[in-house]
Amino acid sequence: MTETTQPYLGPSPDTLVEVRDLQKYFPITKGFLRRVVGQVKAVDGVSFTINSGEALGLVGESGCGKTTTGRLITRLYRPTGGRIYFRLGDPGAPMADISHLERDELMPFRRQMQIIFQDPFTSLNPRKTILEIVSEPLRINKVGTRREQEVRVAELLELVGLRPEYMMRYPHAFSGGQRQRIGVARALALNPKFVVADEPVSALDVSVQAQVLNLMKALQKQLGLTYLFVAHDLSVVKHVSDRIAVMYVGKLVETAQSRELFEKPLHPYTEALMASVPKPDPRAPRAKFVLPGEVADPANRPAGCCFHPRCRYAQPICSTEEPLLREMMGGRTVACHFAEQLDLSGALAPRTEA
Ligand code: SF4
Repeated sequence: MTETTQPYLGPSPDTLVEVRDLQKYFPITKGFLRRVVGQVKAVDGVSFTINSGEALGLVGESGCGKTTTGRLITRLYRPTGGRIYFRLGDPGAPMADISHLERDELMPFRRQMQIIFQDPFTSLNPRKTILEIVSEPLRINKVGTRREQEVRVAELLELVGLRPEYMMRYPHAFSGGQRQRIGVARALALNPKFVVADEPVSALDVSVQAQVLNLMKALQKQLGLTYLFVAHDLSVVKHVSDRIAVMYVGKLVETAQSRELFEKPLHPYTEALMASVPKPDPRAPRAKFVLPGEVADPANRPAGCCFHPRCRYAQPICSTEEPLLREMMGGRTVACHFAEQLDLSGALAPRTEA
């Protein structure tokens, strides 16, 4: 049954996206009858907001649930629980609950929220020309005549730094960086307000990553875009995000303004991720600790704080009591029992030798 959408004004007139207690569980089945024997809790109780024109970075290691979160917000997945609100109209207009809308009801929202996929080598159909690929959202949404679509594709290619005369070429004729620019052009075809960039540079050579990131930053400014920028590498989100949310085993463990987070993380997991951020100065001392082990299994979470088996600051309480995400000074949030006592090193602060 289709749920009715409830008009809702949101936490502030500028909020574009709000997720509240978002959950996505994937069932684990066994045997011929596919009996459900467990749940992979990929996303479990995640809440945050993104304001219009803001770039929120969502970071964590592979398997922490960040990509699933991006796919839930754009409704490529249906949530198991929780709410997703999106403001289709101007600031201050009611927000719509899109958590359980059906395909047809989602159409107007899908035009306003687009996704840039991780791998530009597999996300572009090799049998289609760039014209066909970039104009696809226009054709699906029946926007403009063929000629108008061609003009729009030429405009989009110029916008992302490619020559319009390339539109009759096939993806194989382009480098990785150029293919990701084509992916960006396709995502912008319908003039969306909100873009989820899912690891947009992780498949690219380091030498072209900065070019694509700079392009995305420039487009955000030029078009007033709002981003959810998903990445496993904190150094990637550092320059494009206003705020950063750190995720571990399906839950948020810390959120803060980008600069504050890099100057002084409050969660040991954030500190450990930062230890892996390369410093621009090769003579700068490097952290002497590395994050041990793997991300915990979301189907079988450790008791207490999920991070305790890998945390070098863990105390007995950490293995029995789960720390809740709580508000700290300056609107930051953190889920650690000892956030006030720990003195952690940020990537922007002088590194202390461990
Ligand atoms: Fe580490 Fe304990 Fe804080 Fe978890 S609650 S991050 S185990 S100190």
